[in-house]
Amino acid sequence: MESNKKNYGGISMGGKWHEVRVIGVVEENAMTRRFFFEFTELDQFHFRAGQFVKLKIDDDVTRAYSIAAAIPGIKRLELLVVLKKDGEGTPVLFEKAQIGAKFLVSEALGNFVLPDVSDLEDEVCFIATGTGIAPFRGMISELLVSKYMGTVNLIFGTRWMEDLLYRDKFDALDHIHPNFHYIPTLSREKRESWKGKAGRVHPIIKSMYKDHRPCDFYICGWSEMVLEAKAHLLQMGYDKNHIHVENYG
Ligand SMILES: Cc1cc2nc3c(=O)[nH]c(=O)nc-3n(C[C@H](O)[C@H](O)[C@H](O)COP(=O)(O)OP(=O)(O)OC[C@H]3O[C@@H](n4cnc5c(N)ncnc54)[C@H](O)[C@@H]3O)c2cc1C
Repeated sequence: MESNKKNYGGISMGGKWHEVRVIGVVEENAMTRRFFFEFTELDQFHFRAGQFVKLKIDDDVTRAYSIAAAIPGIKRLELLVVLKKDGEGTPVLFEKAQIGAKFLVSEALGNFVLPDVSDLEDEVCFIATGTGIAPFRGMISELLVSKYMGTVNLIFGTRWMEDLLYRDKFDALDHIHPNFHYIPTLSREKRESWKGKAGRVHPIIKSMYKDHRPCDFYICGWSEMVLEAKAHLLQMGYDKNHIHVENYG
């Protein structure tokens, strides 16, 4: 029987499961891989940018992963996963997920999605560390494709240049869309070739939003960063209804 050790924000472990086959694996860096799956029976996989799926890694281990792809209604699914060496699930996933291997995934789940553009404040700020950037690929594409004219900031914190997940993709969007700003910050990088911001995400949020201008915040990642960022924003006077979080645990 499947273990119910994990609680996915109150979302039940039941529901529909779909078979997928691994069609590609890309090493983003030493610890992080992009896994590409194709549905073997479903013609179209419906989801909203920002949602996640549950992945049955083996009979006893099921884990949640944000959907890291940009186009809704396709037959393929991309997940971005960091290896937790002492974890129960990811070492098995990294070992098993070779081309052709089959897994089961749930339907798309969760409420971490954008509202109608008309319900957004003048500015939207996405804040992520590590693989917490995954749901923002789709959400940012959705906003930019919808011709949203407000400012869209993405503050992405990680340690080293090698950890800048999807860097080329966000750099490209930054070049194309005058209202999109990709703001990576590195907490450990000392190499001179890094010309960007240094340090953790929190001082950057504080300094960027010290004028307290209206903004909707979307925060995603591991609980320490998510809770700290939310607490800072609340302390700065932002209303909790404008702070949306996806907590990886
Ligand atoms: C809604 C949702 C979406 C998620 N999306 C993603 C995603 O897109 N990509 C992704 O890599 N993970 C994502 N996760 C986390 C994922 O579900 C697993 O928890 C993760 O892959 C570790 O699984 P494991 O079995 O290897 O480790 P476990 O055996 O579950 O790990 C044990 C402990 O380590 C903690 N932990 C695991 N990894 C880290 C880390 N990198 N930093 C800090 N603490 C950590 C866990 O919280 C847990 O307490 C998501 C979680 C949720 C709830």
